[in-house]
Amino acid sequence: MTPRSVYVHVPFCAHRCGYCDFTLVAGRDDLVPRYLAAMRSEFSSVERPVPVDTIFLGGGTPTQLPPEGLRQLVGDLVERFPPEPGCEFSVEANPADVDGTMAATLAELGVNRVSLGAQSFDADSLQVLERDHSPSDVRVTVERLRTAGIENVSVDLIFGVPGQSLDAWRATLDAAVALEPTHVSTYGLTFEKGTAFWTRREKGQLTACDDGVEATMYELAMDRLPVAGFEQYEISNFAKPGQRCRHNVVYWQGRSFHAFGPGAARYLDGRREVNHRSVTTWLTRVERGETGIADREELDPESQARERLAIGLRLVEGIDLATFREETGHDPRSLFGPALEQHRSSDLLEETNGHLRLTRRGRLLADTVVADCL
Ligand code: SF4
Repeated sequence: MTPRSVYVHVPFCAHRCGYCDFTLVAGRDDLVPRYLAAMRSEFSSVERPVPVDTIFLGGGTPTQLPPEGLRQLVGDLVERFPPEPGCEFSVEANPADVDGTMAATLAELGVNRVSLGAQSFDADSLQVLERDHSPSDVRVTVERLRTAGIENVSVDLIFGVPGQSLDAWRATLDAAVALEPTHVSTYGLTFEKGTAFWTRREKGQLTACDDGVEATMYELAMDRLPVAGFEQYEISNFAKPGQRCRHNVVYWQGRSFHAFGPGAARYLDGRREVNHRSVTTWLTRVERGETGIADREELDPESQARERLAIGLRLVEGIDLATFREETGHDPRSLFGPALEQHRSSDLLEETNGHLRLTRRGRLLADTVVADCL
C-alpha cells in the first residue's frame, strides 16, 4: 500500500537533558542552514509528490528552529508531500520555546496538533530531568497555542523520576488533566547506556525509582486518566474520543511511512531503513550527494508478520486476528508458538471478540510478552 504518512526529524535542542539518547545536537544552531539545505535534498529523493494524511515533525525539538527556518522546512516538505484535506499535522514542542510568534507560525503553517514535552508539573522532577521550563510555562504555552487556533494539544509526561513520590505523580496527572488536553502520553523513565543519567546511576549519584513504585505509577495513570475521559488506546497513550494520534497509529498498525532527517527510520514495502544517527555524518553525506541511509533491511514475509504482531500488540484493542491472517498470511497464534498458552495462563494475553491483546497486567510486562513473538 502506498505510504500516506511522513515523519521529519529535527535534531536541534538548546541542551541535552541527562536522560535523553535521541539523535540530536545541543547548542549547535549554527548547523540549521546546512540542515535545511540537506533536508531539501533528501525530500527531493522522492521522485514525484506523495499526498499524505499525516505529517509528524519530531526531534530533538522542532520549535528550536527559528520561525523562518520552520517555514522553509515545511515549505520544502509539503512541496513533495502535499497534505490531503483533513491531514493531521503534528509538531513536537518544548514549552520553553513557544512564544506568541512561534504559536502563530505553527498555526500559519497548517499545524493542527502539538505534542508538548511537559514531562512533569512538579518543579523538583523537572529539575532532576534537567528540563529548561517550569510547570507554569506549560500552562502559558497551552494558552498561547489555543489563542493561535491550535486546540489539539497532547501532553507528554514522565514517571519514575528519581525522587518522585507517588503523590507527586498523582498531582502531575491531575495538573495535566486540569489543562484539558486532547491527549496524554505517559512514559516510564529509562536509563539508556551512553546518557548522563546512566553514568550517574553507575556512579551512585542517581537512584532509579523502585520497580514496584514505577508499576504503581503506571497503574495510577491507567486508572485516573480514563476517569477524566481519556481512553487508553496504546501502552503509553490516552486520548479523548476521536483524538488518537493518527500518525502513530500508522506505526502501530505496521503500515508503511516515509521518514527524513538524521536518525530517521522509515518502513517502505517491507524494507526498513535507518539514516545515520550522527547529525554531522548524515549532513556531510547528504551534502556530498550520497545517501543518508546507514542501515537497510529487507524483511521476509514471516519477519514482516512478526514485527507487525509485536508492534500491534502495543494497541489496547490488540490484533484483529482475521485481518492479520488475511493481510500477512500468518496466524498470530502460531507465530507465538508455545509461549501463547503460557502468557494466556499467566493472564498476560487474552483473546476477545476476534482480537488477540495484552491484558491490563500484560501491559505492565509488554516487553517480555512481545519478545516471544519476534
Ligand atoms: S528537549 Fe527532548 S529531545 Fe531535547 S534533549 Fe531534552 S528530552 Fe531530548
